[in-house]
Amino acid sequence: MTRPLPSAAWFLLAALTHGSSARSQQTLPVAPADPAIASAIAGISPRRIHDDIAKLVSFGNRSTLSSMDTDLPPGTGVTAAADWIFAEFTRISAECGNCMEVRRDDEIEPGTPKTRILKDTRLQNIYAVLKGMDPAQVNRRVLVTGHYDSRNSDNFNTHDPAPGANDDASGVAVSLESARVLSRLKFPATIVFVAVAGEEQGLNGSRHLAKLARAEGWDLEAVLNDDIVGGDTTPGQTGQDKSAVRIFSEGVPAPTTPEQLRMIQTLGAESDSPSRELARAILDVSHSYFHATEERPAPVAGGHARSQMIRLVPAFHPVLIFRRDRFLRGGDHTSFNAEGFAAVRFTEWQENFDHQHQTPRLEAGTLQNGTTGQIQYGDFLQYVDIEYVANVARLNAACLATFAAAPGEPAEVHILTKALDNNTELSWRPPAGAPAGTTYEVVWRGTDAPTWTNLQSAGAALEIKLPISKDNVVFGLRSSDAAGHKSPAVYPMPQNR
Ligand SMILES: [Zn+2]
Repeated sequence: MTRPLPSAAWFLLAALTHGSSARSQQTLPVAPADPAIASAIAGISPRRIHDDIAKLVSFGNRSTLSSMDTDLPPGTGVTAAADWIFAEFTRISAECGNCMEVRRDDEIEPGTPKTRILKDTRLQNIYAVLKGMDPAQVNRRVLVTGHYDSRNSDNFNTHDPAPGANDDASGVAVSLESARVLSRLKFPATIVFVAVAGEEQGLNGSRHLAKLARAEGWDLEAVLNDDIVGGDTTPGQTGQDKSAVRIFSEGVPAPTTPEQLRMIQTLGAESDSPSRELARAILDVSHSYFHATEERPAPVAGGHARSQMIRLVPAFHPVLIFRRDRFLRGGDHTSFNAEGFAAVRFTEWQENFDHQHQTPRLEAGTLQNGTTGQIQYGDFLQYVDIEYVANVARLNAACLATFAAAPGEPAEVHILTKALDNNTELSWRPPAGAPAGTTYEVVWRGTDAPTWTNLQSAGAALEIKLPISKDNVVFGLRSSDAAGHKSPAVYPMPQNR
């Protein structure tokens, strides 16, 4: 049975969507911030993030290839960095009564001629698992990752400095700091905090971990890859935007079969992969926890406002970029995409290529302000904006917490196409381990709109009929718990029954 809508709601929906307003600029109602999550992200510490990045830089050169060197000064190289990350996750876990399991995903990557790994090379990913408290949902996981390896101008140089402060100690710091603040909370589903190696040689570490996740049957709902999230600050640089972080997501899933591709083309579903729905869900979460900078009079005893103003929340927002990654560049999220998982990349608004993959040096050239002078090359801590990294960490932590707290994504989401009419009928099944009180929301947008504009609650029903032509809009369906934590939306596939 289809759950009938109240007639007034039906009329309103029909009026909204049968006219030109299917393209309405409306945005979804913002879910209330969860006070426990808000408090956790308020605990994100720029000082700790600074110290993490400084510590990672102190290992000198974190090239994954240095794992095979026997002549490194003590306390330098990629293995020393891996050991420190393992110890740091272990220390964080100890502070929450050993709430996390800290692991190494260790392998020998075979050497291959004419690649960036010429000889057999030890490669280890370090990760900490904050196990979900609900036995019915413990296998559902959300994951945050950054790569702890670095490089300089020469892929095979393992001895000269490769500080890698922005690329990608910043992303590892996001993973570590997310673990620090979220390990104090309990979630029904599992959160995995990761630092991978081998990114600079061809995403080798993340590929190994994504395959492990597939082999071990992880129900991996969301992967957040933070790579180059330092908010590069270079004197004279005018293109940087410290209020924005880019979220890259693929449109058509990487492992699509020819039949699936034909279906995507038929439906016009080129912008509705699970990764793209994850990106939209990140945008929704950001609305709950980040607002434009707002200043209010500071409250004082007696109710009289003074002239002093307080800043409530830092202005910060994700900008969704509808492509897999930047031109000519790749990242660890694509390893997870290749295994069929929803995965996106967080990256600063504007990169400075003088401060990535560069052997530290001074060279004459044209400066950011157009004058000539000595250019400082090298990925140093001094170019990283710690407050910016902290904002990226706050957004990551809010997303991880929200998705781990929400019920899983609804299953078997279908749009029923038997009737040739101008309505839309959707049906679905509850997610695995759905807790009591799970409800569902239909979201939709015009076919030419990038993000969801409309929402209709379906309550606890498992089908709904809407007076909206399925030909004119794109639908998604998401789960919500009683507190308002939402899963990412699921694109409904047609079912002709
Ligand atoms: Zn990187």
